[in-house]
Amino acid sequence: MTLDAVLAHIDAELPKATDRLLDLLRIPSISTDPAYKPDCDRAADWLVDQLNGLGFDASKRPTTGHPMVVAHNEGSGPHVLFYGHYDVQPVDPLELWDTPPFEPALEDTDKGVVIRGRGSSDDKGQLMTFVEACRAWKAVTGSLPIKVSIFFEGEEESGSPSLVPFMQQNAEELTADIALICDTGLFESAVPAITTQLRGMVTEDFTIKGASRDLHSGMYGGLAGNPIHVLSDIIAKLHDETGHITLEGFYDDVPELSDEMRSQWQNLSFDHASYLGDVGLSVPAGEQDRTPLEMIWSRPTCEVNGIWGGYIGDGFKTVLPAQASAKISFRLVGQQDPDKIHDAFVKHVKDNLPSDFTVEFTPSRGAPASQMSTDNPAFEKSRQALSDEWPRPAAYVGCGGSIPIAGHFKEVLGMDAMLIGFGKDDDAIHSPNEKYDMESFHKGTRSWARILDALSK
Ligand SMILES: [Zn+2]
Repeated sequence: MTLDAVLAHIDAELPKATDRLLDLLRIPSISTDPAYKPDCDRAADWLVDQLNGLGFDASKRPTTGHPMVVAHNEGSGPHVLFYGHYDVQPVDPLELWDTPPFEPALEDTDKGVVIRGRGSSDDKGQLMTFVEACRAWKAVTGSLPIKVSIFFEGEEESGSPSLVPFMQQNAEELTADIALICDTGLFESAVPAITTQLRGMVTEDFTIKGASRDLHSGMYGGLAGNPIHVLSDIIAKLHDETGHITLEGFYDDVPELSDEMRSQWQNLSFDHASYLGDVGLSVPAGEQDRTPLEMIWSRPTCEVNGIWGGYIGDGFKTVLPAQASAKISFRLVGQQDPDKIHDAFVKHVKDNLPSDFTVEFTPSRGAPASQMSTDNPAFEKSRQALSDEWPRPAAYVGCGGSIPIAGHFKEVLGMDAMLIGFGKDDDAIHSPNEKYDMESFHKGTRSWARILDALSK
């Protein structure tokens, strides 16, 4: 059987595939720091060379920031667009790295062999699983089982400023039947996952102002209003005693979980005690009528991220401050509209603002949530292919974070996306000593080889 031969080829060639990944990891493609612009360019060139070597028609495409890499391989059957990013996060604080971040190496740990280095998991190791799967298919059969395009960006870790304009300018070229995004993780080390819903976000930054200057609490205390009290009151009223968010209309566009998702999530037997225990907590603090997985995947949130005002230095100053500020973010789900949530928040603040006080908002930022339609047969075929590779069946999961690329594929190109990745929670992405498990790299490559086969059927 062809697939077996492809998988055997991946097994036999793993050392060479690893060497290629190490080559890519040696390029310090830190996108946010202009000093590394030539290295970002070099990483793009390296990928173009690799893909052209595999028979793709690949090119480096300029943008006003770092270049995109776009590659096409003709074929029959469905057309997929694979997405990854070749840029990486900065490495500070450097002194916390046990090995130099851009001198990647294999390391034996008590959990198996890992590939250590910046970008090993996020996202170079992940994107190379797909490239190596294509390489194996080409080596064994001379072609790919379906039509494949590849799209790598180099600005994911610095806000993707060129992404949407590039997609708009090249919409026809980039549109396929479905997008494959490899920048997420396994659910647990043995349970592969397809992420089908991602939360959106609204951020708010605001300042409450009272008296025209800081006051002495001996002279004004008790008489003058205190903006920190006002701010605290406004924040306290954002939630009721059952954990629900009180903004007007906040839950209007929040869908209930489908029965199918609910039962899948129950089967995951998520251990919230150990999830919270890992960070020294024990009690789920969100909406009391929801399960812990719902709280982090499918329910919207409101969290205070920062709060300041008055005197916070050493010693004591009995000041009655003139102003107090906070940063608050909302995670959105379903069809919640960032603008509507922002307006409801502004109304909440103004409704609770006493006389004599004013409020200033800095412009808020927002992105809607994404929800994939699993009706596309590619989802079920891929889930089966992943289940064939890993010890336990693959699950459809949610993601508490926001991955804007999935929304852009939908909004700009009208494409659903399957988010399939092989990272692990302890990969330390964005942190010192980032690693990618060799098992993730190996089985991730095998998984893509299986998915390409499954999608051709
Ligand atoms: Zn990433």
